[in-house]
Amino acid sequence: MTSQLADQPGAPRSAPERGEGPGAGRALRAEGSPTRAVRVGGIEFGGGFVVIAGPCAVESAEQIELTASAVRAAGAHLLRGGAFKPRTSPYAFQGMGEPGLRLLCEAGRRHGLPVIAEVMEPAQIPLMLERVDVLQVGARNMQNFSLLRALGRMRRPVLLKRGLCATVEEWLLAAEYLLDGGNEQVILCERGIRTFAPEVRNTLDLSAVASAKLRSHLPVVVDPSHATGHRDLVIPMSLAAAACGADGLMLEVHPRPSQALCDGAQALTPVAFEELMRKLRPVLAAVGRELGAAALPTAAAQSG
Ligand code: PEP
Ligand code: MN
Repeated sequence: MTSQLADQPGAPRSAPERGEGPGAGRALRAEGSPTRAVRVGGIEFGGGFVVIAGPCAVESAEQIELTASAVRAAGAHLLRGGAFKPRTSPYAFQGMGEPGLRLLCEAGRRHGLPVIAEVMEPAQIPLMLERVDVLQVGARNMQNFSLLRALGRMRRPVLLKRGLCATVEEWLLAAEYLLDGGNEQVILCERGIRTFAPEVRNTLDLSAVASAKLRSHLPVVVDPSHATGHRDLVIPMSLAAAACGADGLMLEVHPRPSQALCDGAQALTPVAFEELMRKLRPVLAAVGRELGAAALPTAAAQSG
């Protein structure tokens, strides 16, 4: 039935499998071929398991310094921290903007960690390119096609979060916008989707991780912080992500979560982050993976 319907002229086609115009299907994985690694300095997404950690938002020099130092000591590979924050309420903390980016970049450089931050609009791209090693497209912007097109023209890695209500297909097609522009350094990030369950902020969809890995050659990381909204759920879901074949994690860590200006309830303390890193190793070993090698400073982090 499905195939008959699909064969009708004008019937919906399942792209990218069938191809939807020129350039379609660049994300697709040839059967049996491995994940194509995305390099960030000395780090390889799609090689060893990569851990990105840091606060939801950069709040002060002291906060980002304490966080960078703690996550580096525990073995993180990249430092995260939002400077331009997409907040549901216009009255909520919107991020420090450019000064926040500078603080992030300086902390990353001091601790030898490449940095990642969210870019919300094309006009922010030049500033981002000066400061960050990986450009993050947030869940709310997954289908901001002008932003995707602009990032597709860049040659800097992009981490593309899955939209709040996006299917895996829509997520992969959003990645196609980047790949079609010639930017092949794309990392996918599952961060939970909207469901009916009120116990969690979102529902972590690990089947989407397995599915995206099966269908595409792109590395896939998991963000259990936004997926659950509760710090107590972050460690178990991180271990599950490692077990199901994810290529890494993105975690929110704050030196004093109760004082965080944004997403404190889901932030791990440095002590909990260290516990997570300890618990990850045997799970990764059980599925034939290991933590990636330690970070080396990158060009962007050095030029800061
Ligand atoms: C974030 O990672 O800072 C963020 C805002 O997450 P998401 O886009 O997944 O909501
Ligand atoms: Mn957050």
